[in-house]
Amino acid sequence: MKKIAVYILVMVFAIIVLPMIIVKGCNFSREVLVPEDKSDNIRINVFVSQENQTVEMELEEYIKGVVAAEMPAEFELEALKAQAVAARTYTYSRMNGLFLPSDNPHEGAVVCTDHTHCQAWRSIEDAKAEWGKKWAEYWNKVEEAVNATHGIVITYNNELINPVFHSNSGGRTENAEEVWACDPYPYLVSVESMGDEQGENYFNYIIIEEQEFISKLREKFPGIVLSASDILNDVSIESYSEGGRVKTIRIGSETMKGTEFRNLFSLKSTNFQISRESSTSLRITTIGYGHGVGMSQWGANYMAKQGESYEKILKYYYRGVELRVIQ
Ligand SMILES: [Zn+2]
Repeated sequence: MKKIAVYILVMVFAIIVLPMIIVKGCNFSREVLVPEDKSDNIRINVFVSQENQTVEMELEEYIKGVVAAEMPAEFELEALKAQAVAARTYTYSRMNGLFLPSDNPHEGAVVCTDHTHCQAWRSIEDAKAEWGKKWAEYWNKVEEAVNATHGIVITYNNELINPVFHSNSGGRTENAEEVWACDPYPYLVSVESMGDEQGENYFNYIIIEEQEFISKLREKFPGIVLSASDILNDVSIESYSEGGRVKTIRIGSETMKGTEFRNLFSLKSTNFQISRESSTSLRITTIGYGHGVGMSQWGANYMAKQGESYEKILKYYYRGVELRVIQ
């Protein structure tokens, strides 16, 4: 009897339990890149900021307008594909109630077309006006990038990621928590970014009158004490982030975050240096363009030029992620 019971147990394990474990294991380990996505059926309400109205669109059509507006269309096809997947992930995550902004100026719409709030977007008509003779070539390229990545999104631990990106990291991307008051994101970590120096917006500077520099500081910090005869002697950079940007800067009696300083003087990035331009003015030089977190668009274009795929690009800038199709 006992032998029979053991035999039955072993058979049950071999025939029923074991296959369940194996199948489950496979489902978790494999990347679901199968062409059965549902993104064709998804419609989305977009608040078109330019027209001040909410418009219903097909998700994939909307993504074309985002790629057309967010990345230069002369970029490499694989870079445009990476941008398409990032844009789709951004949108789909918001549709699923993830990473929503604390303010919602577009009730009834998932996203708006204001690039300072959600993602930039451009209609076909706007693209025609912007691109002129190159219009057909560029639009075809954008369509190809979106169609070739149809329904694909980026996940980390089976969850949609927040695929933030920027124009030019200046050579190294930034940890998310250095820019926003948030916990570290495991996939938004500082990485070296090759080719950013080839971007036309790699290097920038502003020249500001010393008096204006001081009055802007006094506006933000009414109690600030400046004692040095030369303002530059009152300035010291206290710490740098892992991404090589200014983390904290002290000016006179005030210490502020690099991000605060960047906003105050509308700088292109927090990777900056201050020097004297003339006896009455200062020069603030910046490297890179944008917050520096996630994918660098110029870096992505450089990788594409080296023959890398959009998948490789995304997995480089977003660490530990997988690509999946919307189910
Ligand atoms: Zn918005």
